[in-house]
Amino acid sequence: MRLHAAPESIAPDTDLAQMVADAFPPVLLASLAHLTGDMSLLRAALAPDPTRLLEPDSGYSPAQAAEARSLAIDSLERYRDGGCVAADPLTDEQAALIIGFLTGVLPEDDYLPILLEEISLDGDRRAPRWHKSEIALEGDVTVGIIGSGMSGILVAHRLLQAGVSVVIFEKNPDIGGTWLENTYPGCRVDVPNHLYSYSFAQTADWPNYFSTQEVLLDYFRACANEFGVREHVRFNTEVLGATWSESDALWNVSTVASDGVSELVAVQVLVSACGQLNQPHFPDIDGRERFVGTSFHSARWDHDVDLSDKRVAVIGTGASAVQFIPPVVASAAHTTIFQRTPPWLLPTPVYMDELPESMNVLLSHVPGYARWDRCWIFWRMHEGLVPMAVVDPDWPDQERSVSASNDLVREIFTMYLAETVPDPVLYDALLPKYPPLAKRIVLDNGILPATLARDDVTLETCAISEITERGLRTIDGKDHDCDVLIYGTGFSASEFLIPMSVQGRDGIDLHESWDGEARAYIGMTIPSFPNLFLMYGPNTNIVVNGSIIYFSEGEANYIVESVRMLLENRLEAMEVRRDVHDVYNTRIDEGNRAMAWGASHVNTWYKNASGRVSQNWPFSLLEFWQRTRRPDPDDYLLTAKNTAKNTAKNAGDR
Ligand code: NAP
Repeated sequence: MRLHAAPESIAPDTDLAQMVADAFPPVLLASLAHLTGDMSLLRAALAPDPTRLLEPDSGYSPAQAAEARSLAIDSLERYRDGGCVAADPLTDEQAALIIGFLTGVLPEDDYLPILLEEISLDGDRRAPRWHKSEIALEGDVTVGIIGSGMSGILVAHRLLQAGVSVVIFEKNPDIGGTWLENTYPGCRVDVPNHLYSYSFAQTADWPNYFSTQEVLLDYFRACANEFGVREHVRFNTEVLGATWSESDALWNVSTVASDGVSELVAVQVLVSACGQLNQPHFPDIDGRERFVGTSFHSARWDHDVDLSDKRVAVIGTGASAVQFIPPVVASAAHTTIFQRTPPWLLPTPVYMDELPESMNVLLSHVPGYARWDRCWIFWRMHEGLVPMAVVDPDWPDQERSVSASNDLVREIFTMYLAETVPDPVLYDALLPKYPPLAKRIVLDNGILPATLARDDVTLETCAISEITERGLRTIDGKDHDCDVLIYGTGFSASEFLIPMSVQGRDGIDLHESWDGEARAYIGMTIPSFPNLFLMYGPNTNIVVNGSIIYFSEGEANYIVESVRMLLENRLEAMEVRRDVHDVYNTRIDEGNRAMAWGASHVNTWYKNASGRVSQNWPFSLLEFWQRTRRPDPDDYLLTAKNTAKNTAKNAGDR
């Protein structure tokens, strides 16, 4: 995977009409204005209408598309005939003009700096603007990072850019986190890749609109290598726990390596980047241990098991299961799928498609198309369906939908189901009985309905009562024998940081203090746990808008700025104030209760055992960005460095 690619020259015989055939015309014009510097391409009549983003083709008419393509072909011809000389780098004013054309965002809008960062035309707009060598002439800080998945690589890179030492603990033998562990057949990202990638490491090389697990893993490996992160990772090293030592203001991190060797590593700051979807969840169904066949969880796929000629049972129809069900069905003799709650399907025709050849040709000559596509996708999705998830308390039938616009989404999704599932019994089984957007929607290109309609598939909607030696029994007393049982039953998402044991100030245990109710300030900091930060912590997940990488980039920024605050002010510790944390979380809870996923009673991994939404962020992407610019010192209890104590300790060390 190439992270940076210069535009290739266009050969005289290149078919330009073919080259632009599959491009989205406004993104094409934006990319060509960037490449050629010709801002006259940005004609107002050819700009997308920001009020029609949710319509097919985002409301862009065929006439507009034809005119925009013809303009683009003329522009490419001039560029080719002029020897393919790219224009000078864009000024911010020019970039704002192009952004305005694509999104309608005006120069004075709050979103403009975010979009400029998101496309990072000049390389990396979110890089730290400080270096440790300039602000901390004495003393040092080492940040321990737990996990080297998407967010661990990111925060390590940012800290290294600022000259801060890091040590990364990784239980696996390689980087990649979720993209390393989830190898089930059919695994792919369900956010378009031009958006699901770091803002500062974009590539025009994605083979699919939504690439597969192997490709994502390859991308994150390439990033870790290029950023110089890999050499700081201690592989095969699991963190068992961490204890805050008040006397010397350090986290003592207890690790065990795969060869059994234990170690205690002291760091000044500790970052958990172990994710929310990390510990496989097995359902609490009687008799699980009795089953004599083969069984495994989707996140621990057993590739040695040959499914051909086997009777396979699958529990679950969440985002993971719907991806592996089609390939499993294709190889098994018979598949029985145990569905408790059907997901709403979002029609996505290109979901599994490779990029058409024309698009690959375009991207090789105009690689900037990927960035402008990112800008466009970001804008289209940024608050996306969020307004349609807001509860209207006066809306009458809250079990069906939560507002008029939510009901419209329901109508659109229902129509798609009716079109793709002609069998009325199957249709009834697949029609969700809860409001759309209350639970994660899954993308579909028609493959799931077609798979479930096959003769060698049984969709079982009767609840499972127990697992027997030979398979599953449902509450109607029926036995469903199988040779292989696959758990597509998700993760223990609400139990953040399990199975680690974390002790903060005064020996307070993190999980005991949470008591099943994980909360943090901006998802990152927790009272009584100084200098501890969480990436993808409580209430930082999104349901229907954007990419989780956006959140991770904000969190990484906040953590790096926190380290800066510690160093610049000669502080040994920062600990979020309880009152600040509590007020914040009250607002988060109110926000989530006003959303479909908080108001509905449907089962979701967004809620903890008590029913509180512990995962989701209910506000705008803008607010998250604003909150993660830098820590507000007033939010924290700050402890100055005790020079005498540290001198004594250092002398003792010697
Ligand atoms: P999940 O969404 O939590 O799905 C778990 C499934 O198991 C649900 O269908 C659930 O039913 C079912 N289940 C659990 N216990 C059960 C029981 N006792 N009896 C019957 N069914 C039971 O987990 P996931 O599919 O692994 O997805 C989790 C998240 O991972 C996703 O929402 C997404 O954020 C992420 N993910 C992303 C991608 C991607 O980007 N492509 C792919 C996979 C996963 P209920 O619905 O009734 O609870």
